[in-house]
Amino acid sequence: MKDHSKLRFETRAIHAGQGPAPENGAVMTPVYFTTTFEQDAPAQPRQGYEYSRSGNPTRTALELNVASLESGAWGLCFASGLAAANALCARLVPGDHVVAANDLYGGTFRLFTKVFERYGLRFTFVNATDTDAVAAAVTDSTRYIYIETPSNPLLSICDIEACVAIAKRAGALTIVDNTFATPFLQQPLELGADVVLHSMTKYLGGHSDAVGGALVGNDDGLREELAFYQNSVGGQLGPMESFLFLRGTKTLPIRMERHCENAKAVAAALSEHPAVEHIHYPGLESHAGHALAARQMKDFGGMISFELAGGIESANAFACAVQVFTLAESLGGVESLVDVPCSMTHASIPAEERKKAGLNDGLVRLSVGIEHADDLVADVLQAIERAVQPTRV
Ligand SMILES: *Cc1c(COP(=O)(O)O)cnc(C)c1O
Repeated sequence: MKDHSKLRFETRAIHAGQGPAPENGAVMTPVYFTTTFEQDAPAQPRQGYEYSRSGNPTRTALELNVASLESGAWGLCFASGLAAANALCARLVPGDHVVAANDLYGGTFRLFTKVFERYGLRFTFVNATDTDAVAAAVTDSTRYIYIETPSNPLLSICDIEACVAIAKRAGALTIVDNTFATPFLQQPLELGADVVLHSMTKYLGGHSDAVGGALVGNDDGLREELAFYQNSVGGQLGPMESFLFLRGTKTLPIRMERHCENAKAVAAALSEHPAVEHIHYPGLESHAGHALAARQMKDFGGMISFELAGGIESANAFACAVQVFTLAESLGGVESLVDVPCSMTHASIPAEERKKAGLNDGLVRLSVGIEHADDLVADVLQAIERAVQPTRV
C-alpha cells in the first residue's frame, strides 16, 4: 500500500488505508464477507488474518483510514461508539477513577454510572469548561479525563490542551469524544490527547445508515491492550458497516463544509428571532466558548441547540411543526434532524443531573444537514411561528 501520510486531509479521506486490490484491480475495497482465512501451514496466517473477530481486511482499511484522518498511529473500529467507550472502561480496574464532563452524551453517562460503577470504577462529573473544576476533581486514582467538545447537546467547548496538561500532571490519559467536531474540524491528538473516540454513526458515516465506533491513538501498548480486549470480548465492527464508513469518510470534508455553512445560516436566523430565548452555537460571538472554539477548531460544526419562549410545550410543538427537518434521534447525516434531548436522547440522565448540567426540558437540538440553507431557515422560522403562536381558528 502507498504511503499517504504526507497528503492533505481531503486526499487522505479518499485514499488512506485503501488502494486497488492487487489480485484484480478493484478500485473500491471489497466487503470481505468471510469469517476465516486459509493458512499456509498451522499457525501461519497469510497476511495476519485468522478469524474476523480478530481482524478483517475491510475493517483494517477503515481503521487505517480513520487513524490517518485523526493523525494517529492506530485505529480500532467497534460495533458502536458505546462499544468503543466500553473497551476504554474495561481496561480499568476497581478503584480507578475517571473525571468526566457533566454534559456527555446520555448513553456515555449511562455506561459509566449504570454499568461500570457496579464494577467498582468511580466517576466524578464536572463542568469541563471550567479547567479549575477539572483539576480539583483529580485524585491519586484518576486514570482518565474524559471530555466531549463541542458537547452534546449544549455545545459547550472545553480546552483540550488545558485538560491534557492536567491529565499529564496526574499521570492520567485524556480521552476526547470527537464525534461532534470530526477530525476535519478538530484534531485532539495534535493537541496532546491520548485517545480520540468516535461514534462513526454520526458524521463519519454521514448517511444515517450504519452504527459504528472508533478509537484512535498513538501509544502502541495501549493499542495492544484495547485490541486484546476487543478480541477477547467482541464488539468489533462488521465488514458491511466497515465498507459503509469507508464510503462515508471519502466525502467528510465537503459534507462538513456544507454542514458548517448551513448551521451558520440557521443559527443567525434563530439568534435574531424574538421567540428564541437561548441559543447554543459556538460560531456565535455570544457563545461562551466562541474564542476557544475559534482557536481549537477549524470551523464551528453543524449542531445547534436552543430554547423557545414557552419551554417544553413550545419545544414539542416545534419538533412536530418542522417539515424539512425530521423528528428523530441521532445526528450528523446529510438530512436535517430535530431532537428534544430531555425526553429523547438524554432521557437516560436523571432529571436532577440534567438540571445541574444546565440541560433544560425545553431545549431543542438541531442537526443541520446539507440541504439548501434557505429551505432549512424557512422551515425553522415557520415551525417557530406555529409553535410559539399557535394559529387561532
Ligand atoms: C451517538 C454518540 C455516542 C454513542 O455512539 P453510538 O454509535 O450510538 O454507540 C457517543 N458520543 C457522542 C457524542 C454521540 O453523539
